[in-house]
Amino acid sequence: MFDDPQAPEWAPLLDAAWMARSHAHAPYSRFQVGAALLTATGTVIGGCNVENAAYPVCLCAERGALSAAVAAGLQPGGLVAAVVVTDVAELTPPCGACRQALVEFAGALPVLLANRHARQLHRLENLLPHSFTGGHFR
Ligand SMILES: [Zn+2]
Repeated sequence: MFDDPQAPEWAPLLDAAWMARSHAHAPYSRFQVGAALLTATGTVIGGCNVENAAYPVCLCAERGALSAAVAAGLQPGGLVAAVVVTDVAELTPPCGACRQALVEFAGALPVLLANRHARQLHRLENLLPHSFTGGHFR
């Protein structure tokens, strides 16, 4: 499951990501991003980027969705799949900070990148190899 970028199981995540993207607050970059996460309970949670005049305060779509998922009860290991959508020609992967944030909840997460014409499937462990996790504290 979630190993084919064209598979129909991506549809609810893509719908949620595009919907969230339509609410993106990106007045400075005009680069609107949507994300969606599927949790082990079957919940799909969207997120969008939220920019701020004080640039360091900006929040990526992926971490916005992750925060909402945690608020809804997401536990480590509870992420099933992730989608990131943009409307630019080059598919947009999660930034480094978002990769690190996601790996806290799922090391082997399938991550689908999409625009209006293309899809590309990655796995989080390949996007962030040799990641730092809570296991390093033990
Ligand atoms: Zn990010």
